This record gives sequence, structure tokens and C-alpha cells, in this order.
Amino acid sequence: MKVLVVGSGGREHTIIWKLSQNRKISELYCAPGNGGISALAVCVPIKATDIDGIVNFSKENSIDFVMVAPDDPLVAGMVDALQEAGIRAFGPVKAAAIIEGSKSFSKDLMRKYGIPTAGYEVFDSSEAALRYLDTCSAPVVVKADGLALGKGVIIAQSVDEAKAAVKNIMNDKVFGEAGNRVVIEEFIQGPEVSILAFTDGKTVVPMVSSQDHKRVFDKDQGPNTGGMGTFSPSRIYGQKLAEQCMKEIFLPTMEAMNKEGRKFKGILYFGLMITKDGPKVIEYNARFGDPETQVVLPRLKTDLLDIFDAIIDEKLSDIKIEWSDNAAVCVIAASGGYPGKYATGFEISGLEAAEADGDTIVFHAGTTYADGRFRTAGGRVLGVTAVEENMDKAIARAYAGIEKIKFEGMHYRKDIGRK
Ligand code: ATP
Repeated sequence: MKVLVVGSGGREHTIIWKLSQNRKISELYCAPGNGGISALAVCVPIKATDIDGIVNFSKENSIDFVMVAPDDPLVAGMVDALQEAGIRAFGPVKAAAIIEGSKSFSKDLMRKYGIPTAGYEVFDSSEAALRYLDTCSAPVVVKADGLALGKGVIIAQSVDEAKAAVKNIMNDKVFGEAGNRVVIEEFIQGPEVSILAFTDGKTVVPMVSSQDHKRVFDKDQGPNTGGMGTFSPSRIYGQKLAEQCMKEIFLPTMEAMNKEGRKFKGILYFGLMITKDGPKVIEYNARFGDPETQVVLPRLKTDLLDIFDAIIDEKLSDIKIEWSDNAAVCVIAASGGYPGKYATGFEISGLEAAEADGDTIVFHAGTTYADGRFRTAGGRVLGVTAVEENMDKAIARAYAGIEKIKFEGMHYRKDIGRK
């Protein structure tokens, strides 16, 4: 069986690592992939957003199954295009991926179906948004409606800062078309938990919980990043909270999408804030999170392709999904300067030593491999994941691994898993 995964980050490396354990798969491809992925899959130089390119490659190479991992191609309708071409594809169709692709859509969905979230208003013109901000007090949250590479959310500490954000997004179009509309949201507080879930539109099966560390420096200092590390399970997400989330958030979301005629089949990611009034949805993603996937999938005992197949066939309830009781930690190594400007092309050493114990896995995010050498190629370069019987041991092993890795300018947080 020939399988293609679309994407190129640490998340995709983790998905491919997990799929590579499936014996039915004889050939694994990744488009475009990265240096680390090239050890497990054939990397093909087609951009993850190139719908025609991916469809044509899949047809020409008789690919049996395509897994679309990133948000942009899902929101742009890659799964629809693959299905129309007769290719079995995993991920939500465009009509369902809108739950991530438009924040005003997801907020209106939650309001309509009584799913707990922060209060908000939606604006199509900057004048109206600016007038509304005159009635707000800080902090207040401004969000570009569409996809903005994880940078479209501004937590404004003053009304003036919020107004500047609205002007940047709507008038100066710093995020392009994604800023044709803004959501202005009430600022809410509490610890954040990520719950990824498998869903086929009939059943929703949450995966084990995780938490990420978004700020670049220790003790949550410095600017936001794509994620500097993750750990699973979360210490604050117990059985009672899980049951409450299932009843108030997960099932109602799946049912709401069905009622809207937008059946969601794929991975639904719930970004939750546990406020004093209970859990609230901060955001939905229509795909695996990065770097949450790097601590969640290594704990999955069940075959991932079997789950994907069951989702496509709407038979998720037939499959028993099992997890290890272990703890997992992923520490991200980033390029010097990230999340600001950074240089790339530096040689990476120590990768083999980091994985030598057999229980530590290095998932590559921004790397290339050529002439026997790995080099840096992105802001987040790689993540070192360790799975152990408890969190303390997992933290110790992940750090023992990352300490062996070196490249010029490399930096990482020292407090991952300590939240
Ligand atoms: P991602 O890259 O995770 O997809 P995003 O750009 O879609 O991010 P959100 O996840 O919606 O953005 O928000 C980013 C972060 O901003 C959240 O993790 C949370 O810490 C903070 N945030 C968002 N909305 C609120 C809110 N209403 N009140 C307080 N903090 C918020």
C-alpha cells in the first residue's frame, strides 16, 4: 500500500514515524517533507498548498491513501480535490475545515449551539471595530478572521494597542485576506489544555491531553512562538473535567457541525482554557497540533492508519483506541533569533547520540539532509521527545537527549513539562 502525507514539520515527522510501524504500508511518501522525514519516507518536492500538484502526483504514482496534515491545504479544499479524483484522503473537507479557517464562523457556531467560549463581536469594517473598541476596557483580544500563521491573535494591553491591531489587520492587511474581518474578544484567564480528538461525525474520541509552552523563554517570558515544547498528560485535566468537556464541548461541537451540514471527519483540536467558570473553547483546529502531536502519538498503542480508515468509513465506534499510561515530553530546539529573524543552513550534530538510548525520538521540523549532513532550515528546528513511566523521568530523558544536540545559535527552554 502506498501512503502520502502532506506537510513538512515536526507534526508530519511524528505522523510518518507512527505510520511507518504499519506493515501494510509498503511505500511512504511525504510532500514536501524535511531532512528527518527523508529517513522514513520518500520526500517529493511539492508544496503542501499545491492542490493540483498533490492530486497529480497521487494519480501518477497510484497513491492509495493521502493524509493531509496542515491547516492551509485543508481549508483550501485539498481533501475535496483528492476525493473528486477518486483518491482516498484523510482530513476534513473544505466545508468542515472552516471551523479553523474562519474564527467568526467558529465563534458564531459556538454562540448558536451554546458551546462555552469567550464573549465576542465580529466586524467587517475597521470603522465599526474602532468605534466598538471605545466601549471596551483592556485587556482585550483582537483576532484576524482567517489563517495568519499563528500570528493573527493580539492580546492588547490597552484600547490604543487594540485599535492599532485592528488598523494593521484591516487597513494595512498585514495578514492579507485573512484580515477582511476581525473578531474582538473578551479576555479570559486560566490554564490552557489541548485536546485532540478523532471524529467521524458520529463518534468523537478524545486523545490523551497535552499542554504546550508558547512563549520563547523560561517562565513564560518573551514573545509567542509556534510552541517551544509540550507534555502529556496535562496535570489539570482529570476525569471529571474530561467528562464535562465531552458533554459541554466535544459532542455539541460534532453535532453542531452535522446540523450545519458540515460533517467533520478527521482530527478536531480543542484549544481549551480552564476558567473559574469552567472550560471554554479558545480555538478549534481542523488537524493535529504542532508540537502537541509529538507527545500524543508516541503514547498511542493502536495503529494510526486503522483509525484513519475507520474515520473515513464512519466506523470509529468499532475500533478500540488504546493509550499507554506513560508520560511524554517534547523539547523544541529553535534557531538563534527565533521567533524573530534567524539564519539557517547550520550543520546539526549529535542527532544519533540523542537517540542512542532507543527511547528518545528526535522529530525534525525545519531541517534538510544532503551529503550525509543535517542542516537547519527553519525557526523551530527539531523536537526531542521522551516517553517514560512518569513526567519527571520523561523530562530528564528529553533534556539528556537535547543536550547532546548542537547547532550554531540553538536555544531551547529549560522548563518544559514543569507547568
Ligand atoms: P495557533 O497557532 O495555536 O493556531 P491562533 O493564531 O489560532 O493560534 P489562538 O489559539 O486563537 O490563536 O490564540 C493564541 C493564544 O492567545 C491562545 O493560546 C491564548 O493563550 C491566547 N488567547 C486567545 N484568545 C484569548 C482570550 N479570549 N482571552 C485570553 N487569551 C486568549
